[in-house]
Amino acid sequence: MAGFAPRAPRFIDIVEAVRTYQPTADFELLHRAYAFATEKHDGQKRKSGEPYIHHPLCVAKIIAEMRLDAASVCAALLHDVMEDCNVSEEEMKERFGAEIAFLVDGVTKLGRVNFTWREDQQAESFRKMLVAMARDIRVVLVKLADRLDNMRTLEHMKLESQIRIAQETMDIYAPLAGRLGINWIKSELEDLAFKYLFPEQYQELLQKTKRLQKDHERYIADVVKRLQAMLAEGGIRAHVSGRLKHLYSIYRKMRQNNVDFEQVHDVIAFRAIVDTVTQCYAALGIIHSQWIPIPGRFKDFIALPKPNMYQSLHTTVIGPNQRRIEIQIRTHEMHKIAEEGIAAHWKYKEGGSGGVDEKDLARFAWLRQLIEFQQEVSDPAEFIEAVKVDLFSDEVYAFTPKGQIKVFPRGATVIDFAYAIHTEVGHHCAGARVNGAIQPLRYQLQNGDTVEIITNPNQHPSQDWLDFVATGRARSKIRAYLRAEERKRSIKVGRELVERVFHKRNMSFARFLKSGACEKVAKALRYASADEMFAGVGFGKIEAQEVFDAAMADEKAQKELQPSFIEKAARAVASMSRTASGISIDDVDNVVIRFASCCNPLPGDPITGWVTRGRGVTIHRRDCPRAMELDPERRVEVTWSERLKTTRPVALRVITTDRPGILSNVSAAFSEAGVNIQEANCRVAPDGTAINLFHFQVDGAAKLQMLMRKIQSLDGVYSVERA
Ligand code: MN
Repeated sequence: MAGFAPRAPRFIDIVEAVRTYQPTADFELLHRAYAFATEKHDGQKRKSGEPYIHHPLCVAKIIAEMRLDAASVCAALLHDVMEDCNVSEEEMKERFGAEIAFLVDGVTKLGRVNFTWREDQQAESFRKMLVAMARDIRVVLVKLADRLDNMRTLEHMKLESQIRIAQETMDIYAPLAGRLGINWIKSELEDLAFKYLFPEQYQELLQKTKRLQKDHERYIADVVKRLQAMLAEGGIRAHVSGRLKHLYSIYRKMRQNNVDFEQVHDVIAFRAIVDTVTQCYAALGIIHSQWIPIPGRFKDFIALPKPNMYQSLHTTVIGPNQRRIEIQIRTHEMHKIAEEGIAAHWKYKEGGSGGVDEKDLARFAWLRQLIEFQQEVSDPAEFIEAVKVDLFSDEVYAFTPKGQIKVFPRGATVIDFAYAIHTEVGHHCAGARVNGAIQPLRYQLQNGDTVEIITNPNQHPSQDWLDFVATGRARSKIRAYLRAEERKRSIKVGRELVERVFHKRNMSFARFLKSGACEKVAKALRYASADEMFAGVGFGKIEAQEVFDAAMADEKAQKELQPSFIEKAARAVASMSRTASGISIDDVDNVVIRFASCCNPLPGDPITGWVTRGRGVTIHRRDCPRAMELDPERRVEVTWSERLKTTRPVALRVITTDRPGILSNVSAAFSEAGVNIQEANCRVAPDGTAINLFHFQVDGAAKLQMLMRKIQSLDGVYSVERA
């Protein structure tokens, strides 16, 4: 390429362009941004050999052509200084303020994301992530302008880079421009990417269209004249133009229909721009009355706008020389939106009133998902502020170690990620390496995180996981797991309860199980299986006694279920060891016993027992508030065994004045009672009282009460209570 000077726009022209649409902009700031970029990029060259500053100038010019605000133009000028010149975000903030620093930082961060790993169905997620990471649509627009200029100068890169960058442009950036409705950027990006991805096809198509250029031009001029005339006759003033479709869209048609260039009919598109919507339909009627429309090719995007809020009437007709031509009919306003898309709404508007039409914006279905209006918006700055917060606020994008992208609702954690990989990975998820650093299960995924799940075969889902998962998938998998576990426990408890009744009545539970009587009883009680029946007992839906009674319903069964001599002997041994645990439980004789940690009952305390699913019987103090909340159906009477010779751990909280010597008096009280303190923690509260916590073992409530009375009577002790 000869000479770069014509390519690089002059800074002063950019300033003048901004002045036409934002006369109140901070031009001093704009100048400073330019001076700083020039200074920082001084001596740097692009791959083409041109001075580096040409690139930011070109990007700024594109931004100014889109009529974006001066802050965006500054960001365009400065967009490479953080990455290429090691300028820190703090320095940017100091020099240019938080807004510009934020925009430049955003563009820099997007530049670091690698979008090269792709699967077709993932491309949309990549696009969304890009917008999500940007957090401000202006960052995306500057990034698009940056990409456009890089594509325009791609010839200077190595072949390998050309293909990678062109592919990324085709997959991510061109469709993104289309999503945002900026058609001219989309078309140009597509043609540039086409050129590098399919060089032969591109050149061939280029040559063919060039050869036919004269013919096309003549034909376009002819059709434009006729269209204008027929519309004028119908009283419609229209601005009519025609153009060859952009190369990639022709190529796409060839591929789609599997035809040659010569067989692609409607390579020329015409556009009639009129004043009103009514005129759009009137013009359509006039055209169809003169030229035969091709059935099935009429599309009404006025009544049904595209998600990016594109509106037009499209029709294909058989025009002069029997050639097929596509005609688009739209109003001036629709045209502006078709060309500029979302940029039309981000444009700076003087006075700050009605900068954005909320109704218009609502038509961006794609963006509507991202933008939840929290308040009525009256000026562009405020609007951008709102968008910054709400863009994709509901979604977060993270990568697998292989670069596959996963989409989650905001707030999703490592566990959600694990279940998105595989149910078993979820069930055994023990943590994760996020961007190389170990993170706990509760870690909330951030956009762009790379997550490697760490599993452990001993790890299993627990109830509290439900508190910090965000996806329905993870939630339902965890619930299913917990339900299955609970069922297993219920079966176990149910069996234990039934077994107890059998033992009490001196019947053989083992034979009940083995003989098949068990299954019969289950059927009789309308359970699908013996397990279901035991689960029913465990859940408390049916009494263990009912099962026993059903088993004894006939005499034959009664005989069969007599215990053997060995069983009787084994049971006698088992019951002896049970008594040694220190608790005799009325009517509950064969289950695991646990002491509740909430009230820590001591031998001698009045107690009650509660049948707990999967945990046997839990012993609470009779006055324990937790126990009061339990299901009274599950309550069983328990008493301490007379023969009990055991100690239980207790803690006492003793509040005293913070005075020397007090602690030794308290210790002495312990020794006098024959109790060894195992652990003592003392701290002084701000109000000057000392809070002492003593841990020790005691063999009964009576001794504890004696000890507490003793301590309470000491001088300087405010209170003594069980902790
Ligand atoms: Mn750049």
